[in-house]
This record gives sequence, C-alpha cells and structure tokens, in this order.
Amino acid sequence: MASATTDPRPISILRCANCGAANRIAPSPRGAPHCGTCGKPLPWLVNATEATFDVEVRAAPTVVVDLWAPWCGPCRFVGPILEELARDWAGRLKVVKVNVDENQALALRYDARSIPTMLVMRDGQVVDRIVGALARPQLVARLEPKLKPRKPPAQVPGGTR
Ligand SMILES: [Zn+2]
Repeated sequence: MASATTDPRPISILRCANCGAANRIAPSPRGAPHCGTCGKPLPWLVNATEATFDVEVRAAPTVVVDLWAPWCGPCRFVGPILEELARDWAGRLKVVKVNVDENQALALRYDARSIPTMLVMRDGQVVDRIVGALARPQLVARLEPKLKPRKPPAQVPGGTR
C-alpha cells in the first residue's frame, strides 16, 4: 500500500564537526556530503527505516549499518563509538542506524538475531558482519581495512629550483 509518508529521499540534519553548522542532506549514491558553510566533509550518520534503508545504503563511502534497539546495553556502548568514527572518517564512512524494534523486517532480512549487529557494506554488498559490541580499538581494526582508499592528493606542479 502506497503511503505519502514513505519519502524515498529522506533529509537528514548533519552537524559539521568543524564549524557546527547544521546541514540538510539527502542520501546520494555519489560522493560524500560537505558542509555548506566551511566546505569540510560532514560526519555522515543517519537513521533509516524500512522505507528509506535501500536508498540510504547506496552510498559511495563504506557503509556501516548499526542494527540496534534502545533497550540494548551493548548497543548504547557501541553507538557513541560509531558516532566518533563517523566524525573521524568523515567523507570515508557512512553510518546507517536502524532501530530493529521499529523495523523488524530489516532485522529479519539480515538475520540479526542478536544486537548490536553491524553490517559493513561496500557498493551495496555486505562485506563483513560484526555481531556484538566491540571496544573502539577493535572496531577500528575491523573497519579500517574496509574503508576505500583516499583519493590521491591533487598533484601540485613542481617548481624549478
Ligand atoms: Zn562546517
């Protein structure tokens, strides 16, 4: 049944870690969002539902889907770590949070029998699956190899000397 409330292009408010500006950002399969005020890459963390999930996970950077619930202690432990990583890896990581209590079809689709379950996705494919909370160093060690390489720095024409 079609519903007017299932907007396929949801807007998320992303706050710039550099200047604090609030940016209204729609999901995009290309690039990564940058602050409209200062131009720095924005920490990309959004909440998705069954209606918006497929469009939110189509993103150029590596995506971590956090299947969580408010009553889950380990989820509350790992949530702030993912927020930090979204800041530290702005432009290279997108975090998509899914409340499994409100979106049980997604929990079923990804067989998330215990939470937190984190799905690491690249180009729409699940490339790793992390079940249970990890401390930040372990999570970094697990996720960092899955990030895409940074773009090479722009070549600066060499001067003569
Ligand atoms: Zn900014």
